[in-house]
Amino acid sequence: MTKTLSCRYIHHALYLGPDQFRHCCKRFHVDGEMRGDAVVFSVDSDDDVGPDKVLVAKRELWRAINAGETTQCSGCPYLSEAEWPELDRLNLDLISVEAHSRCNMRCSYCSDIYYGNVLPKYDVMALFDRYAEAGAIGDEVVLAWGGGEPLMLDGFEKIFTTVSRRLKPLYNRVFSNAILYSQELADHLKDGRAILTTSIDAGTVETFRQVRGVNQLYKVLGNLRRYVEFAGTANIALKYIFTDGNSTVAEVEEFLARIQEHGLSHCAFQISADYKSAEIGAEQVKSAVRLYEGLLQGGTASCHFDDHLRPRINHAIRVIRASDPAALADLSILANNDRFRGQPVVVWGSGEYADGLIRESLFFEESPIAFFVDSDPAKQGGTFHNAPIKAPDAVLAVDHPVVIGSSYAYQDIRRALHAMGVADQRIVDSMIF
Ligand code: SF4
Ligand code: SF4
Repeated sequence: MTKTLSCRYIHHALYLGPDQFRHCCKRFHVDGEMRGDAVVFSVDSDDDVGPDKVLVAKRELWRAINAGETTQCSGCPYLSEAEWPELDRLNLDLISVEAHSRCNMRCSYCSDIYYGNVLPKYDVMALFDRYAEAGAIGDEVVLAWGGGEPLMLDGFEKIFTTVSRRLKPLYNRVFSNAILYSQELADHLKDGRAILTTSIDAGTVETFRQVRGVNQLYKVLGNLRRYVEFAGTANIALKYIFTDGNSTVAEVEEFLARIQEHGLSHCAFQISADYKSAEIGAEQVKSAVRLYEGLLQGGTASCHFDDHLRPRINHAIRVIRASDPAALADLSILANNDRFRGQPVVVWGSGEYADGLIRESLFFEESPIAFFVDSDPAKQGGTFHNAPIKAPDAVLAVDHPVVIGSSYAYQDIRRALHAMGVADQRIVDSMIF
C-alpha cells in the first residue's frame, strides 16, 4: 500500500453540527491565523446528510491534499504520511453529535456558536439509522455528545439510549454542564457505557456566576453528587478552566472545599486554561499548582494539566524563576521535584502524556532518561524518545528516580510502585517543569 497524507479525522471521524458537518474539532495556527475545524459541507435538510455525500467530500479533500493543493488542512500538524486505507466506503470510528447550539449557560470562554440556539436542520435519529444501515459506522465507534448542552437536544434521552443500544459504541463521551440531570446518562455511567465531563470552574457562587453566566453552582454540584452516588466516580471527569476571573488561590481553596463537601474528590480532574492574555503570572501559577496539589491530596483518581495550560505554566515558571525565584519558593511540589534535577531518571509511561512532558519540560533537558517502563507488553522491547522501553520490574534493577509519565494512570502507577517497594522519595511527581 502506498503512503499518503491524511489524518484519522479525515478518514474516520464526523462532527455533526446543526447546519454544518465537520471532519474534526482540531485547531492550529498558520502565520498567526487560526485554522482547523475542517468543514465537510453545510447542511440544510435531511437530503444533505447522506453517508455517500460525506464519503465523496472526504475523498475529495484527501485527493486535494495529496495533489499538493491548498486546502483547509494545509499546515495542520495532524496530517501524517502513512498507509491510509482507500476511502471506498465510510468507516467512522468517531461521531460527535453537536447538533444544536442551545445552552442554559453563558460561559465567559464560550461564544454564540455554542449557545446561539440553532437547532438541527435534520433528524438526528434518522441520520444514525441511515448510517448504520449503510454500514458506515465501524464496530469500535466512539460517540461524543456535546452542543450546546447535549441534554437540551430535543428528545436527548430517547436518541442517546436508542443510538447507544443499537450501535454499542466503545463508550459515549458526554460533555454536559450538569445543570440538568439525566437518569439514562446515570445508567450509562454506572455500567461503563458513558464518560461524563463537566467543567465547574469556581468554588463560590459569585465567581461561578461571573464565569458561567448563571447562578447555578450548587445545582451543578448537587447533580454531580447524584451521578457519583448512583454511578461511582470511575466515569466522571471534572474540569477547572482557569480564566482571568477565577484564578486566585482563594478561589481554588473554595473549589477544593466544595469538591470535598459534595463527595467528588475521587473523580478524575482536568485542569485547563482560557486566559485572554498569552502570559500568566506567579499568582496564576500558584493557583494552578495548589489546585493540582489539593486534588491529589484529596484522593483524585487522576489529575493533569491539559495542552491549553501546561505550556503556559511551563513558560511562566521558567520566566519567574529566572527573574524572581523567591516568588514560587512556597510551592512544595516544585521544590520536591527539584531534588531530582540533573539525575538520570526512569519514566513510567510511553504514551502521549509522557511525550508532552518530555518535549515541554526543562526538567528533561537536565535529566537524561535511562529508560522507560510500560505495563503494555506490546510496547516493551521498543524505544521511545531514543530510550528503550522495558517491563515495570526493571525499575528495581536501578536506583534512579522514577517519573510518573501518565495522568489517567497516575494513581495506579503510584500504587504499583509502592507494591514493588519503591519509596515515595524515589518518585517524581508528574508535575515537572
Ligand atoms: S488534517 Fe487537521 S484540519 Fe484537516 S481534518 Fe485532520 S485534524 Fe482537521
Ligand atoms: S456550558 Fe458549554 S456550550 Fe454552554 S455556554 Fe458553557 S461552554 Fe458554551
